[in-house]
Amino acid sequence: MKMDERRLVVVSNRLPIMVEAGENTLRLKPSCGGLVSALLPILSEQGGCWIGATGGAYDHRVVDALKRWCATQDYSLVPVFLTAAESASFYQGCSNEIIWPLFHGVPSRCNFGPEYWSGYCTANERFADGVEGAWKSGDFVWVHDYHLMLLAHVLRSRGADCRLAYFHHIPFPPPDVFEKLPWRMEMLGALAQFDTLGFQTARDRRNFVACLRRWLPGVRIYRGGERFVIRAAGHSAAIGNYPISVDYDDLAAEATSPAVLAGIEAIQQGISRASIILGVDRLDYTKGIPERLTAFEALLKTHPELRGHVTMVQIVVPSRESIPEYKELKLRIEMTVSKINGEYGSPGWVPIHYLHRCVSRAELVAFYRAAHVALVTPLKDGMNLVAKEFCASRVDDRGVLVLSEFAGAAEELRNGALLVNPYDTQGVVSALFLALAMSDSEQQQRMQTMRAHIREHNVFRWARTFRSQGFAARASRPPAFLPHSSPSFISSRLALMTHGR
Ligand code: UDP
Repeated sequence: MKMDERRLVVVSNRLPIMVEAGENTLRLKPSCGGLVSALLPILSEQGGCWIGATGGAYDHRVVDALKRWCATQDYSLVPVFLTAAESASFYQGCSNEIIWPLFHGVPSRCNFGPEYWSGYCTANERFADGVEGAWKSGDFVWVHDYHLMLLAHVLRSRGADCRLAYFHHIPFPPPDVFEKLPWRMEMLGALAQFDTLGFQTARDRRNFVACLRRWLPGVRIYRGGERFVIRAAGHSAAIGNYPISVDYDDLAAEATSPAVLAGIEAIQQGISRASIILGVDRLDYTKGIPERLTAFEALLKTHPELRGHVTMVQIVVPSRESIPEYKELKLRIEMTVSKINGEYGSPGWVPIHYLHRCVSRAELVAFYRAAHVALVTPLKDGMNLVAKEFCASRVDDRGVLVLSEFAGAAEELRNGALLVNPYDTQGVVSALFLALAMSDSEQQQRMQTMRAHIREHNVFRWARTFRSQGFAARASRPPAFLPHSSPSFISSRLALMTHGR
């Protein structure tokens, strides 16, 4: 069976549908977020199944509603139910208070509660139940992200012999950060049980390999060019970097739709045709929103001639607001916006338009198209799809991307974007000034470079590449990776990097 004919089973923390259950009401609505934007088009095109949590405990009304939903789609959804206590320790606790900050390089924000780890283990068992119930022979099971790093280990210990691939959407930290995790060996050992592991960037892949080398006893690591094969506990896994992308054609088509054109006009009129600097982020401390607002304030302070002619639109998508730190961040952003608007605003001109909500796809693309500058300045980000969506939407080949060098997207877009260090306020101000003054021809040349890259390296190619290499990986165990007939090839292309420790 060829790879493309294999049914795809996606496993992620959340289903691509949010279930809002009240006492007498129940509503399903599509979720927002990078993963859903990236994978739903693939599943709709190729069929298959998505396994994920609903965000609540077992509820038969949810099961029925999902069945009704699936009857109208080309794919099926398998819900995983977690009790409130399980969810608290697995999701709010281990995922969001340990792995997320640690892997984004902020260990000081970690809360290493041992009960969080046991909740994480239990939840991975629940997801494994879902996979066992849905998986059919020949399927390609594709597990997504840091919530489910133990899944292969759980499934293998139950005797499952399915093809298991894992894609890590967030950064992978270097050993001196990763080593703070009290369960570092368990986690690395579990990850090594997948058949294929994908990372966003070469840096993440290098970090992962360095952590294995440092912390996983008995691991063997083979290198062939940009690819690695690891062998641990009798199992082999292929490791590579596969930068995620967007549905370029869909965004480009949407960008000229009547709804978007009307949206652009409404936005421009609403802000008196000032140049727009756009920020679009989920509420998160890794996105660098306060730092960005500070840079915008510094721009207004140091370039008074721009006042009244430039407006920042900051869209903040609500996220994790049950966690006190996120609530505090929201307050901090709102106070900063209000302070800047109070100090610099004038009749007819509001310096910052702040939207704290999810916007529709058409609205978002209208903002992308109406903006002069997209200011994408996370302090650390696995990829950042907003940066790529902005470019894909710019069918006019105009607009400037000011991009954090700490976003995964910087590896691919460095030739077109203005790269900045988000901690360097003056550097961001200079990049903004340059962006606002950039000639049409330079905008065009930079934007065309980025668009050409994203058009070619779109989300479908990402999925195809990952799946086909995942498929190939199973067949090529390390001995097969060594071409017996050519010892010189062995010495030049492959290096046994680590023997058992
Ligand atoms: N997004 C959305 N609704 C909004 C604003 C943004 O669905 O109101 C989407 C946006 O199109 C992008 C995703 O949210 O695909 C954000 O992905 P990104 O990789 O930038 O960050 P993440 O939230 O995954 O950390």
